[in-house]
Amino acid sequence: MTSRICPKCQGPIEPLQWVFQVATGIYVSPFITPTDFSRDAIITEMHAECVNGERLSNQELPYHCHGCGDPIVGWAEIIYGVVGRKPRTPWIRPEERGNGLYFVSHVRCWDGKWDNWLRQLGLPT
Ligand SMILES: [Zn+2]
Ligand SMILES: [Zn+2]
Repeated sequence: MTSRICPKCQGPIEPLQWVFQVATGIYVSPFITPTDFSRDAIITEMHAECVNGERLSNQELPYHCHGCGDPIVGWAEIIYGVVGRKPRTPWIRPEERGNGLYFVSHVRCWDGKWDNWLRQLGLPT
């Protein structure tokens, strides 16, 4: 889903605004951002400024899972967040994403463990 409404402040998300986007994907070493990206991969998107900044820590390679702490290795199914500028339609992947990811978790480690974290970000749990 690609809501143009921020789930946290309920305000519109305009092109070129900084957004925090959470999506699923496949990690392929040595690329910084996961592959398998499509509109369906997006879990949620909100203004970067609406996210509690302390909860966003930029990780550079090698990534470690926030759930189990293990390193993320090739072809793992992951859930990850990026911060970047919202592109103009029809583009959906944020631009100027920088050099890492904000939040990385194995899909298998996502379930059930992150309710508090998600609530603090304002994500649906
Ligand atoms: Zn917002
Ligand atoms: Zn894990």
